[in-house]
Amino acid sequence: MSTAQFPAGFRWGVATSAFQIEGGAHEGGRGQSIWDTFAAIPGAIAHGEHADVAADHYHHYRTDVALLQRLGVDSYRMSFAWPRIQPTGAGTVNSAGLDFYDRLIDELCSAGISPVGTLYHWDLPQSLEDKGGWLARDTAHRFAEYAQLLGERFSDRIDTWIPINEPMVTSVYGYGIGEYAPGRMLLLDALPTAHYQHLAHGLAVRALRAAGVDAVGTANNHGPVWPAGETTADHAAAGSLDALINRLFADPVLLGSYPTELLRYLPAEYEADLDTIAAPLDFYGVNYYEPQLAAAPAEDSPLPFELRPVEGYAMTSNDSPIVPEGLHELLLEMHHRYGAALPPIQITENGCSFADEPDADGTVHDPERIDFLSRHLTALADAMRDGVDVRGYFVWSLLDNFEWSHGYEPRFGLAHVEYETQRRRPKDSFFWYRDRIAEHR
Ligand code: BGC
Repeated sequence: MSTAQFPAGFRWGVATSAFQIEGGAHEGGRGQSIWDTFAAIPGAIAHGEHADVAADHYHHYRTDVALLQRLGVDSYRMSFAWPRIQPTGAGTVNSAGLDFYDRLIDELCSAGISPVGTLYHWDLPQSLEDKGGWLARDTAHRFAEYAQLLGERFSDRIDTWIPINEPMVTSVYGYGIGEYAPGRMLLLDALPTAHYQHLAHGLAVRALRAAGVDAVGTANNHGPVWPAGETTADHAAAGSLDALINRLFADPVLLGSYPTELLRYLPAEYEADLDTIAAPLDFYGVNYYEPQLAAAPAEDSPLPFELRPVEGYAMTSNDSPIVPEGLHELLLEMHHRYGAALPPIQITENGCSFADEPDADGTVHDPERIDFLSRHLTALADAMRDGVDVRGYFVWSLLDNFEWSHGYEPRFGLAHVEYETQRRRPKDSFFWYRDRIAEHR
């Protein structure tokens, strides 16, 4: 894999999120988030794990910035923990929380790394969940205030912003099937949460622009959806799943409309918000992991599709099929579907988990990750050659971290974390990525 095929100015980065690495859960005045609450429910997280300490980035952020500098990335996509800034999600601001991010951002800037700020990566303040969470319109307005606050404080040092990470995962996994916090099982009745997250996004775009930031975009999880068979019913099922996981999240933002088949699940007032939601963006962030396979549902199914496993590919340790060509297919599909409405793309996440452990001499060999990244970058270069405008790529993730309901077992990092000591060990893939970035320069 040669990075020579990427244009000058292409942005090379790596991504993390606050809840997955920070720890410091009971320090510096941080409030409770829905993920703290969820992790305390027996059986919710593998091995009963939680993220009170995680990779302890709260105390090791200087080491982590040094790691980023060694990697040679231009950009670091990080998220702010809302409950660290506003412990109850409204009103009172926790100055110790803002100070932590001040120190982190200053450290990044003096290392020559541009932070990309994600306002929200799933750690909703519990007090807001108690008032309805993303099922409540008011949460979008609280989010706009939070966005204004961060924009005003950090726009002098952060030029690129993403309001919400992967609203699909919150709606489907958090409120639809209950696998993620807050653990609600509302199936399609969860869809008002998509609308209120879109509204929150639109209001945040407005607030960030008013605060003078340079660039605002998204980070949406997308993947191609394949029919399990050739029957009309399988094709219809794939269309329904595509509407739910892709179009429900891209159409409103890019086209100012919703897939018609899902309109009946939205709040009655949705139409009046569409202009706010479709505020023009500077980039569209795509998080790509895997394609999906859909078959016609059983007659009594509450859903218009049945998910099937994608077979015939090597798998990550998190049971995700490794399909680099799916990224090529997805990007071309978006390019054709949205045409001129699609701003330049950034791949805001792409990565894989394996059971990486250090050898006796402390080195961590992860050839599967090198192969994964190399093949995905080739697929990306192919899509760009086919006309898709992609401006940057962020590996998920810098560090092994708390992988939500799966706990600490899946290791996604370019650097291994020994949780007992918090020692970081760059894996072979870290050096591979470092060399690709250097070669590009
Ligand atoms: C999320 C990350 C997560 C990664 C790997 C993405 O959907 O944004 O938080 O760790 O997938 O599962």
